[in-house]
Amino acid sequence: MRLEHTMKQAVIRRSVRKFAERRLVPAAVEMDRTGHFPRDIAEEMAMLQYFGLEIPAVYGGAGLDSISAAIAIEEISKANAAVGLCVSVHNSVAASPVYFFGNEEQRRRFLTPLARGEKIGTFCLTEPNAGSDASSLETNALREGKEYILNGNKIFVTNGGISGINLIFAKTKDVEKDTGFSVFIVESEREGLEKGPIEDLMGMRGNPVCPISFRDCRVPLENRLGDEGGGLKIALSTLCGGRLGIAAQAVGIAQASLEASIKYAKERRQFGKAIAGFGAIQDWLAEVGTRIEAGRLLIYRACDLKERGINYTKESAMAKVYASEIAVDATRIGVQIHGGYGYTKAYPIERFYRDAKVCEIYEGTSEVQRMVIARGLLSG
Ligand SMILES: Cc1cc2nc3c(=O)[nH]c(=O)nc-3n(C[C@H](O)[C@H](O)[C@H](O)COP(=O)(O)OP(=O)(O)OC[C@H]3O[C@@H](n4cnc5c(N)ncnc54)[C@H](O)[C@@H]3O)c2cc1C
Repeated sequence: MRLEHTMKQAVIRRSVRKFAERRLVPAAVEMDRTGHFPRDIAEEMAMLQYFGLEIPAVYGGAGLDSISAAIAIEEISKANAAVGLCVSVHNSVAASPVYFFGNEEQRRRFLTPLARGEKIGTFCLTEPNAGSDASSLETNALREGKEYILNGNKIFVTNGGISGINLIFAKTKDVEKDTGFSVFIVESEREGLEKGPIEDLMGMRGNPVCPISFRDCRVPLENRLGDEGGGLKIALSTLCGGRLGIAAQAVGIAQASLEASIKYAKERRQFGKAIAGFGAIQDWLAEVGTRIEAGRLLIYRACDLKERGINYTKESAMAKVYASEIAVDATRIGVQIHGGYGYTKAYPIERFYRDAKVCEIYEGTSEVQRMVIARGLLSG
C-alpha cells in the first residue's frame, strides 16, 4: 500500500479544499443556526460530481477510487460537517448499494440521477424499536401482485428533508429474523410516503434529518433492490463502506478542530506569552495531531483492502471507531484550549464539539463497532 497520495489524490484534496473553503465554511454558521440546507450549494456540488464520487462515469459519477472519495469527504467535513454528512450518506449508503446491487434498469433510473446530484439519497434502516439491532425492524412490505405495500416508520433519516430517492429496509417475511427483510427504492413523491418534521439535533444541525413514514405505500416490484429477503446482506455490505465515509468525516472534524486550536493557541496570550508556548497546550496538540494521522492511515488501509476486493469489515470498523473517538477527543481538547471563549459561539470550536459526538453513534455505535472488531479478531 502506498503511504503517499498519488498525484491525482493530491489534486483532489487541493480542489475540494478550495471549493470547501470558498463555499462551505461561510455557510456553516447559518446552516447550524437555521437548520436550512442551501439548494445552491447542493447544485454546485452536483456540478463538481461530489454526489457520485465512486460511481463510474457511465452512470454520471466521478469514478474515483476509495481513498480519493475519503479525501473528498474529509475536506468537505472539515469545512462544514453537516454537508459532509450529506455527501457521505448519499455516496456511501444510498448511491453505492444501487450501483452494487441494482440491475441495469435500476442503475439507469435511480443511480444516474443520484450520481448527478439531481436527486439526494437516503438510507432508511433505523426505526423506533430497531436501532443497533436492525434485524428487529417492523416496517412491513406485503406483496400483492406486481406491487409491495409498505407500512411502518423510519426515524433519524439523514438527508430526509431534501431527499428524492430513499432506500427502505422492510420486512418481507415473518419468519427467520436474519433473512426476512428486503430493500426498496422509494421515490419521495410516491403516495403513502410522508416526511415528518426536521429533528432539532445537538450537532450536524444543517443536515435535514427527519422521520419518514409509510401508510399503504405501493411500490412496484421493479423497485426492489436485490433479492427478496436479501436485505441483511445489502445492509451489512453497505454499512461496511459507510463506516469509511463516517470515519473520513470524523477525521475532517478533528483536523478542523486541530487547526482552529493551533491558530487560537498562537494568538491567545497569557502570562506574557502565547499559550502555544506552554507545555500543557503543546502536549494536547501533539496528541491530537498524532491520532489524526493514525486515523487517516486506518481509513486508507481499509480503502486499500476494499479496492483490492479483500474483506475489510474489521478494518472499516477499526477506522470508524478510532476516527470518531479522535473527533470527540480533538474537539473536547479544542474547547479546552480555547478556554471560556471555546464555550461560546464566538469561535467555531463549540460547533465542532457538537458535530463530532454523533460520529460515535450513527452507522453503528462505538460499542457495535467493537463487537464487529472482536468478532473479526476471534474468528481469525
Ligand atoms: C443525526 C443522526 C443521523 C442518523 N442517520 C441515520 C440514517 O440516515 N439512517 C439510519 O438508518 N439511521 C440513522 N441514524 C440512526 C443511528 O444509526 C442509530 O441511532 C444507531 O444505530 C443507534 O441506534 P439507537 O439510537 O436505537 O440506539 P440503541 O441501539 O438503543 O443503543 C443504545 C445504547 O446501547 C448500546 N448497545 C446496544 N446494543 C448493544 C450491545 N449488543 N452491546 C453493547 N452495547 C449495546 C449502544 O451502543 C448505545 O450506547 C441516525 C442517528 C442520528 C442521531
